[in-house]
Amino acid sequence: MLAACGQRQPAPGAAPAPGRAPAQSSFLALDRDPAQCRAALDRLGTRASLMPGRQGPAGCGYAWAVLRTPASTGPRWLGEPPATSCSVAAALSWWEQSVVLPAARRHLGETVAAIRHMGSYGCRTIGNRQGGQPSEHAKANAIDIAGFRLASGREISVLKDWNGSARDRAFLRDVRNGACPLFGTVLSPDYNAAHADHLHFDQMPRSTGFCR
Ligand SMILES: [Zn+2]
Repeated sequence: MLAACGQRQPAPGAAPAPGRAPAQSSFLALDRDPAQCRAALDRLGTRASLMPGRQGPAGCGYAWAVLRTPASTGPRWLGEPPATSCSVAAALSWWEQSVVLPAARRHLGETVAAIRHMGSYGCRTIGNRQGGQPSEHAKANAIDIAGFRLASGREISVLKDWNGSARDRAFLRDVRNGACPLFGTVLSPDYNAAHADHLHFDQMPRSTGFCR
């Protein structure tokens, strides 16, 4: 069901680690069908509520979204859980299980208990330019990740630790790089100053992902 281009790809969650990351297209397919979305999230251990759409001004809004519930496996959200497109939610779950948790074990010797985010939906244009193209945030098709709370309680933030200790730097680069095959766009502090304090992930459909 999640195969892309007729090739058999591991379904998200079927083999959380190790394994080849699913193509972005296999996540995008989930946005077309809430039932398929729910089935894919179930396989990832992600419990989610389907949320009604919202209509904003200037082309903002979305038809439906998913909201992860605390019954899900894996790290929880710090702060209000964000409603996102299904493709963002499913790619995040795959990323947490197959990228974030293994990277934390490898570099930090512990697990990630929670992830701090800076929201998904926002009615704005790319780079907040007046009259510009709507951001993927305007469709809840993006998420901004600010940091991670480890099981010990220590927090790693993109802002403070991107150029921090060797192990924190290695962890943050691995979680950035591991997101690249899963999302259409991945932006980090390496991209520009506007991303100094977060990792931006979105599911803009692209033939080749944009990863900086
Ligand atoms: Zn963003």
